[in-house]
Amino acid sequence: MAVMITDECIVCDACAQECPVAAILADGDEKNPFDEKYYVKPESCVECVGHADAPRCAEACPTEGAIVWDMPYTTDYEAYYTAGHESGTYAIREHKKKGIMFPSVKAQPFMENIDIATREAHGNVGNF
Ligand code: SF4
Ligand code: SF4
Repeated sequence: MAVMITDECIVCDACAQECPVAAILADGDEKNPFDEKYYVKPESCVECVGHADAPRCAEACPTEGAIVWDMPYTTDYEAYYTAGHESGTYAIREHKKKGIMFPSVKAQPFMENIDIATREAHGNVGNF
């Protein structure tokens, strides 16, 4: 990942169009595992690295605490994302040939200045 959208989301649609890699799904999208909030695909989110100095989604979001940090989408967190996929926290895309796109299949860039403790605590992106 990544960033994560929480239950604080008010489904206002301000974030999705700001994402440079189309990683955000609306509440009605069939690939969104949740009915009442937007969803960030961790296998697609690049934390805006190479696109902006800070996550664009969070800059657009009007709701405190709706977009929070999650763990880097790297092999160090393979077990974390595998468990989350199995429990329903994530719905990671399955590629026809490559299989489920876990970090070991394709890792993503992340903002290295955000420490792991902040990520584990799912700190509000807007505060950093
Ligand atoms: S941090 Fe950037 S790449 Fe990730 S979901 Fe938000 S806008 Fe998209
Ligand atoms: S901008 Fe924030 S509140 Fe609006 S849909 Fe996106 S995450 Fe939800």
